[in-house]
Amino acid sequence: MNHAEPAWLVHGRLLTPTGIRRGAVGIRGHRIVEVSRQPSRSGRRVDARGCYIVPGLIDLHVWGDPDLVARDAVRAGTTAFLSAIGPASPEELAKQFVRHAARRSEHAGAECLGIHLEGPFINPARGGALASRWLRPPRLKELSRLHRAGRGALKLVTIAPELPGGARAIRWCAAHGVVASLGHSAASAEQAATAAEAGARAVTHVFNGMAPLHHRHPGLMDAALTDDRLTAMVILDGVHVSPQAFQLLVRCKGPARIVLVTDSIRRQAGSGGPRFLRSAQARGGAFYTTSGRLAGSRLTMLEAVRNAARFGKMNLADAVRMATANPARLLGMERERGALLPGRRADLAVFDERFRVRMTWVAGRIVYQRG
Ligand SMILES: [Zn+2]
Repeated sequence: MNHAEPAWLVHGRLLTPTGIRRGAVGIRGHRIVEVSRQPSRSGRRVDARGCYIVPGLIDLHVWGDPDLVARDAVRAGTTAFLSAIGPASPEELAKQFVRHAARRSEHAGAECLGIHLEGPFINPARGGALASRWLRPPRLKELSRLHRAGRGALKLVTIAPELPGGARAIRWCAAHGVVASLGHSAASAEQAATAAEAGARAVTHVFNGMAPLHHRHPGLMDAALTDDRLTAMVILDGVHVSPQAFQLLVRCKGPARIVLVTDSIRRQAGSGGPRFLRSAQARGGAFYTTSGRLAGSRLTMLEAVRNAARFGKMNLADAVRMATANPARLLGMERERGALLPGRRADLAVFDERFRVRMTWVAGRIVYQRG
């Protein structure tokens, strides 16, 4: 094969930033080189008949050994993810960050983009399954130590802004290119607004880990719905958040300010990691702790996209955007990922009308194909 020639994904329905249309995607090396009606040059043809071709899905919240996640997530169209790390002692956390930095390049399959640190900087009153003796207020010294230990792997931190030092930690994140996301928090709406002012840009699994909407005592939930500076991440498995709550979210935020995440622990339950993960039991559509608290989801990103289209009564292009362009933008990676455009990385998910993944491409290579 002539390596100067692109490979062409043909006969698919493309979800581009300007809508859905029939066409072909040309891929050379690890990039998309052309998006057009017909292949304009010679090269290998890969048939995507009867399928949608969309940018690879990006999951900003998934638990489990990154190598395991990398191999497994591509089966559901995920091509990049943030690996969640939970509460632990300062020494243990630093060790985990060092380990993460050392193994980053070895992952096969989906690409691990870094770490989502969820806990220890959260409010014990809203800790949920993350409740632990290791919850503590954020300190700049520890944040910068972790930042160094991970060699830049720290990409997103969930912070309860009402904790002492919360606003300072959020400013530190904003200054260091780390997304500060508000969550597991008992913040008032006023404290949430101050946090957004300080540079917080997102809300972690909106509706979960915070007080419900209150018409006389507005809190983080009310701020999440009404403050356009905050992008809402949501676990859309139908257990963590109802279809009606999601419709409310869509009406308040619009499709540009919602990010679908899995918060999936299915690759970790019963194995290593924090205690709540090891002991979590699957029941119905989710995982629960031994005391009956929601511990995490069994969701895949493609199921989340399907649910967004169904629950939210929205078109597929908007649902896909919440799993591709929006998370890419939150991480500041929108020039590299999240859209079918020439020059972007050739990370692609190809799935049929019934949301069954036909194939997944990462960096111009097919990493998963259904037989
Ligand atoms: Zn959580």
